Amino acid sequence: MTLSKREIKRLSILLLVLALGLILFFVFRNAFSKEGKSDTIVFYGNKNIAPIVYKEKGKVKGVVVDIVNELGKRIGYKVEVKALDWDEAQSKVLQGEGRALVQINPNPERLQVFDFSDELLRSEFSIFTKVGNATIKNVADLTDKKVGVEKKGYPYELLHKFDGIKIEVIPNWKTGFEMLVSGKLDAVVVDRWIGEYELAKSKIRDVQILDEPIETQYSRIATKKGDIELLSLINAGLREINDDGTMDAIVSRWKGKRVIYLTEEKVRWVVLHTAVGVLGFVLLVSLFWIKKLQKLSKGLEVEVKQRTHELDEANALLRAANAELERISMVDELTEISNRRGFDLAFQESWEISKKDKRPLALVMIDIDDFKKYNDTYGHLAGDRCLKCVAEEIKKIVGMRDQVTRFGGEEFLIILDNTTEDEAAIIADKIRKRIEELTVNDADIESPITISLGVAAVIPNDSLCSDDLVNAADKALYKAKRDGKNQVATSSSVKTDPFQIA
Ligand code: GH3
Ligand code: MG
Ligand code: MG
Repeated sequence: MTLSKREIKRLSILLLVLALGLILFFVFRNAFSKEGKSDTIVFYGNKNIAPIVYKEKGKVKGVVVDIVNELGKRIGYKVEVKALDWDEAQSKVLQGEGRALVQINPNPERLQVFDFSDELLRSEFSIFTKVGNATIKNVADLTDKKVGVEKKGYPYELLHKFDGIKIEVIPNWKTGFEMLVSGKLDAVVVDRWIGEYELAKSKIRDVQILDEPIETQYSRIATKKGDIELLSLINAGLREINDDGTMDAIVSRWKGKRVIYLTEEKVRWVVLHTAVGVLGFVLLVSLFWIKKLQKLSKGLEVEVKQRTHELDEANALLRAANAELERISMVDELTEISNRRGFDLAFQESWEISKKDKRPLALVMIDIDDFKKYNDTYGHLAGDRCLKCVAEEIKKIVGMRDQVTRFGGEEFLIILDNTTEDEAAIIADKIRKRIEELTVNDADIESPITISLGVAAVIPNDSLCSDDLVNAADKALYKAKRDGKNQVATSSSVKTDPFQIA
């Protein structure tokens, strides 16, 4: 059979339309199926079981909310958790308004109307009592006791298994715990995690938790009886998030965020231990600083010692410098024997000692004869050399014991302690002779010179002053000059001698 060109064209168009139709069918089928899958599955939860499910600022939150959201991702459905009163939540699912219930524990009554998923979260249904209540140690002790439980909650059914417990329905956990503290209830039974969270959040103290739970159960997700398709999806999703560690991660994230519940006793324990810890820490820090300061102070001590040593050295130097200054201030620059200031100090001291010891004190006053002429003849510098020479010769004769002073221009004074006038006169004459003997060859003089000497001595007493002795020596010297120079005159030879001669 042969086909005309026209028929071939028609056939081609037909095939094309068929192909297009097929493509469109598959595209739309996928799109529809996706749309179907994107339907939101509503899960209902108890709004009063923070941190498992609860409402905060209108938003539903909690461990199970995070689990369900993760579940939704795995099964490819949009999910939403709605939180209501537990009773109402269960009714809604039974009425078909929601498809699943979260955080529910199976019991015979529930098993009749719901299908339950695999395990979701571990629940430890525990007994909470007032701190100090020693009569309730386990569930057997709850007989005849008023025990608060939530309406339609698992503990409600659980406690009915035991005889004689006066079960009281509480509106919420906070009120239940308050009733417990005020004595209206003997115990409250609730999942430990939920109870602890509520106590911490409401800051209710004086409540203790019995370590041994009445029952440990795994909560589940429930679907309305017969919704096998959803239940198997949920189980598949749960398996996945359990296997890949997502479940553990969510639980530990919420455990990490949990509010720590402390009983009054624990608060005291924590406060005590914290205080001890803080004190210990403070002690350690203090010890560290004490050690550091000790080291520092040791270093400082060493430095202070060093500085003190340096200061002592500097002081010693200063004292030496002062002593030198003092010495210089009492020494005549030209002749290097004591000057007038030195004389005043030494003479005053000798005067006082002699007065105290009642010993004679003598003065020899010396004046170079015709020294003006000497200066005029040989010049002032020669005069200076001569002055130095005379001073040295006097010192040689007198020795270190007694003080020789340059009293004025070409005048000298000798203090002779414990010396009478006669003894002083002998010394004076010895000096006179020595100066007279000086020749140009053995002394630093230009021509022979002579000196005149006045001698005076006295035992000092309160009716005399030291200047009297100086004046007496001066008068004696004047007499020696008057009598022809180059001689010794004594004060006692002066007619107006004021002293009692020693
Ligand atoms: P007289 O025998 O009476 O003491 O006579 P004089 O010339 O020694 O006494 P005068 O008081 O008239 O003169 C003292 C002289 O001593 C005058 C002065 O030139 C001299 N003279 C005083 N001090 C110094 C000095 O430091 N160096 C020198 N070269 N001469 C001095
Ligand atoms: Mg003179
Ligand atoms: Mg003179």
